[in-house]
Amino acid sequence: MGAALSSEQNWPDTWTWSRVTLTVPHAEGRGRDSLAVSAARALRSQMLTRGTSVRLFVSPVPRDQCDMNRVRCRGTRFRRSVFAHVRGQPTPSLVIDVHSFSPVSGFTPEWAGFDVVVLDDNQPFSTYSKHYVAFMRANGVSIALKRGGSNDIQDEMHERNVDAFLTGAFLLEFNEGLLGTPDRLRPIAALTARWVIAIPD
Ligand SMILES: [Zn+2]
Repeated sequence: MGAALSSEQNWPDTWTWSRVTLTVPHAEGRGRDSLAVSAARALRSQMLTRGTSVRLFVSPVPRDQCDMNRVRCRGTRFRRSVFAHVRGQPTPSLVIDVHSFSPVSGFTPEWAGFDVVVLDDNQPFSTYSKHYVAFMRANGVSIALKRGGSNDIQDEMHERNVDAFLTGAFLLEFNEGLLGTPDRLRPIAALTARWVIAIPD
């Protein structure tokens, strides 16, 4: 059911997301995403400015203690809080899981030249993640869409997308080398907020 809801046929060509939930699962501990909280706050700020209801969840748990983006941490307080919140949202709602990567010490050197990398665990990619990437690219953002694997926050949203609570979910990786200042983050956050409220044809 979840896979069907996120397939090409079931998503409209154009829509406005009524609510956005932002999650930062790797805010603390060894291997933390150093830019993720700043990026998520920039997204929230730009979305609120445009009248979108948005809620940000930042995990206080160190990544090396429990990786909140993995299935084994699904039962934690953080994960249960996120899901309970999303479940109560009007539809359609969007979950953006926010991360950052180092262009030098990262495990994926092919990401280094991009400002933002979108990871979508859906296969084929969901209509909305493809649309987001096309929109950002058309507005000058260096962005790539890659296949994700076991990103469990979005996987949970896809799997449990029952009772027609239309929830889209993908993951954004922000480049810590290119985007380490508010001046660099703000335009990307502003474009994302524009895309959220009115997806152009
Ligand atoms: Zn991360």
